[in-house]
Amino acid sequence: MDTFIAPTDRADLLRAAVTQAVDFLREGEVVALPTETVYGLAADAMNPSAVARIFEAKERPSFDPLIIHLPHRKRLADVAIVPADIAETVATLIEKFWPGPLTLVLPKADAVPESVTGGLPTVAVRMSSHPVFKAVITSFGGPLAAPSANRFGRISPTSASAVMQELEGRIPLILDAGACAEGLESTILKIIPAEKGKPLFRILRAGPVTKDDLQPYGKVEWANGQPDKKGNIAPPEVPGQLPSHYAPRTPLRLVENPDHFLPEAGKRYALLSYRGDEEDGYLGLAEWEHVHVLSPGSGKLPEAALRLYHALRALDELGVDEIIAEPVPLRDVGVAIMERLRRASYL
Ligand code: AMP
Ligand code: MG
Repeated sequence: MDTFIAPTDRADLLRAAVTQAVDFLREGEVVALPTETVYGLAADAMNPSAVARIFEAKERPSFDPLIIHLPHRKRLADVAIVPADIAETVATLIEKFWPGPLTLVLPKADAVPESVTGGLPTVAVRMSSHPVFKAVITSFGGPLAAPSANRFGRISPTSASAVMQELEGRIPLILDAGACAEGLESTILKIIPAEKGKPLFRILRAGPVTKDDLQPYGKVEWANGQPDKKGNIAPPEVPGQLPSHYAPRTPLRLVENPDHFLPEAGKRYALLSYRGDEEDGYLGLAEWEHVHVLSPGSGKLPEAALRLYHALRALDELGVDEIIAEPVPLRDVGVAIMERLRRASYL
């Protein structure tokens, strides 16, 4: 199969691309679409054979559930059942964060095929704010399943060319809208009703909507299989949150303290640096083959987030023996960046 990249940077091109995408989706095909987080691989969420095409193209194991995107807030009932005890909270979160990078896990509606949820009784739902995604899903008129447009276990694509690298020959069409604004996958949230006071929010995957963003509406806790203070790792709640996700082919090592890194003679290293500052103690540690700086200068976390996957792809192309990653501050979207780096790291 030939894979075409359709530009969307002029009104007439956008119209043509949307029409082409919707035609494919109606035929039960998959199409790669830009979202504000990363590029997604979309298919008709209510059509089991279209959904099967996603798993096939991504080589994704069938137990790993997909996220469903809605064309409109009012269409939530098509795919999910909102329990009465969290209805008010769900309404508030939707009002505040949709369209945007917040995915809610809710009990699934019967109409959603089992294959979308990997047999789980729940479904993950969000609404994208990307204008091109919106144009396609509005014209399509129904929910789209759209996981990241990468092969399973690989780095999520944040540009059309990255999708091409991942899925060329496996899908018919990629809509190109340039680089994604956030660069990291959505925050995934499960809501647990409280007997009194605020509900409990369990973050299943850290993302662009941060703990601070959510705190006004509930008590926030992490449940993403990360090591606790004693180094114990709680079992992941969902299969997609396994360690060793988001990984480049070149071994990557997150070195949280520069004193803990000793280069081996004859080995070629590249550095993934947060802000490229001598003071952080990494630049002088080795004869780096290449240094890739995520946010030069004072270091801005949103900038680092949107450049992370692009940087990992670029570093992976160098053919070095190992990529050494500096940590970023564990606050705001830095938590999500560190989660991705930990999962990409083999140590
Ligand atoms: P992505 O490939 O980035 O679209 O992410 C899909 C991920 O969403 C999966 O790997 C799971 O981690 C998560 N997910 C999807 N459905 C559910 C669900 N019902 N419950 C919890 N997490 C889910
Ligand atoms: Mg993914």
